[in-house]
Amino acid sequence: MKKTAFAVFILFIFCFCGAFAFAQTENQEEKLLQETLSLSQKVKEFEKTIGIQPSNIFSVTAKEKPGQSLLCLWVHNFKDVLSSPIMVVSIKFESGAEKIPPIKNFGVFGQNSQLYSYYFRILNAYADPDLPITVEFAKEKNYRKVMTIIHEDMHLAPILGEEEFVTPLADIAALKFFENIGDDENAQKMKEEIIYFRQVSQEINIIIKKVQEIFKRDLPFSEERKEIQKIICLYPSYAKMFDSKSRDQGTEIFFEALINHDFRYFGYYERVIGLYEKIGDLKILISLFGKNAFSGENGKKYFIECHDKNSDSTYYRPDYDKYLDDLEKKYGLSGQE
Ligand SMILES: [Zn+2]
Repeated sequence: MKKTAFAVFILFIFCFCGAFAFAQTENQEEKLLQETLSLSQKVKEFEKTIGIQPSNIFSVTAKEKPGQSLLCLWVHNFKDVLSSPIMVVSIKFESGAEKIPPIKNFGVFGQNSQLYSYYFRILNAYADPDLPITVEFAKEKNYRKVMTIIHEDMHLAPILGEEEFVTPLADIAALKFFENIGDDENAQKMKEEIIYFRQVSQEINIIIKKVQEIFKRDLPFSEERKEIQKIICLYPSYAKMFDSKSRDQGTEIFFEALINHDFRYFGYYERVIGLYEKIGDLKILISLFGKNAFSGENGKKYFIECHDKNSDSTYYRPDYDKYLDDLEKKYGLSGQE
């Protein structure tokens, strides 16, 4: 009898503690969501001051709207890191990325396929105005959240929504946001991020050319992969990024797609930051990358000049190259590569 009473008592304590811990976690999560919502509102107010029209992304929490995630598959030609991907497939999931099985488990394209290179990514944050603030997003570090809010708003705003320009512009904007509100700690974090990405940018511009040279040697597959790895190892900032993104990819067929993907984000990063240092005004800098830069007559001019007249640019967007060349000349930065 005594034993039964004791067991019931223990069970009661266990259930009570469990319910208490659950309620506490719920409260902490709710608090975090509300704090992130308030941060997002402040960031969006700041965006207006630098010429970005904020979208509705991250304007409600997952309490009001369920989270989603996006599986992106980059398909690239084998033995080529310079041209555009053959296609980028995006599959939306009606749940957060943490509920999607590890990417390598998809394995649908075969381990030994050497026709195309594939790189997978699962994203919790991407340019969709319907996206709410999820608990996972709210748990990220503040500087990361601000970078992401501005980055995705820039994709959705009337500025050139391409990674090449959105990535550096959003990072500078995040730094400016923290400086404006006097948050020295996060401003310092952003400075460190920008220094790191500038290094990645310089390195990937060299790597992409060296890797292309390796392809010309027409080596057997495994030897070729080793040579590419050797090159990447010489450049520690990009090597760190490459390693962390490689983990879930399975076999080594992802090399071309991943390098090309990263070049999109960081290939022009250093040049855009260089322009910012010269111009010194973020609003003016952002206006140079408005949608009109590559649409209408101006866009036509660059497209015709660069695509139809056999431009000597190596990269898949010679018009972006030429546009940056012209801006650098205009602001007295010519002489850069
Ligand atoms: Zn983006």
